[in-house]
Amino acid sequence: MNEPLIDIGVNLTSKQFREDLPEVIERALAAGVRYMIVTGLTAPLSQAALELARARPGVLCSTAGVHPHNARTFDRHTQSELCNLARSPQVVAIGECGLDYDRDFSPRDQQRAAFEAQLQLAVELKKPVFLHQRSAHDDFERILRQARPGLVGGVVHCFTGDERELDCYLELGLCIGITGFICDERRGQHLQKLVARIPPERLMIETDAPFLLPRDLKEGRGRRNEPAYLPHVAASVARYAGRDETELRRSTTSTAFELFGLAGVFEPSAE
Ligand SMILES: [Zn+2]
Repeated sequence: MNEPLIDIGVNLTSKQFREDLPEVIERALAAGVRYMIVTGLTAPLSQAALELARARPGVLCSTAGVHPHNARTFDRHTQSELCNLARSPQVVAIGECGLDYDRDFSPRDQQRAAFEAQLQLAVELKKPVFLHQRSAHDDFERILRQARPGLVGGVVHCFTGDERELDCYLELGLCIGITGFICDERRGQHLQKLVARIPPERLMIETDAPFLLPRDLKEGRGRRNEPAYLPHVAASVARYAGRDETELRRSTTSTAFELFGLAGVFEPSAE
């Protein structure tokens, strides 16, 4: 059970971690979460994520992108800001990018434009994409399919969709990120049944902390999620997928290393 884990989606730039970030990282390491990818949500927050990664080499790396909620901040400077950030070796993916028609925090046309621009950037820079989709599958698929031939790869993070969506992403050659949403005894039920469909070499795990505290962990832990709870996600995914937990821990880490090219980031001597 000592296989080191990687949390492919942690929002460590969140205000919720401002008071105790070093302790949060230490608790994760103590729990066997050896590596974390800090999610970039806007251009300035992608800069902040990169600074965190630079401060903890060998433990943290980051993404650079604009979340669909923040697509209204995507202006004519954003593309070159993200491009500059993404030239740093610690920035391992473009994103979080995609479409969210569930909350519509940014107008849909701006979401689509920001998504297309970031896919184009990923193609130019040959970086994988870290994708987000909520209630927007058809537009998401259409835009993604156009860019797919030029993309090196990507992961649909925090997948909570249905069978049709899952099969579409697998057919597009994408990886799938599963969070503690699967632990929700009510909302997670469909995901519990679907997770066995994801081939081991396409499956990664994440906490999406500070969000999505696994519901079966809520007792006595407050409401904030932390990367230290990733082993609980691993155990839950293994149980529902009918897979050996040690083998799942190993394969999720090796899949993440492969997609994000992490050997060169975390173990430069091994290159
Ligand atoms: Zn997301």
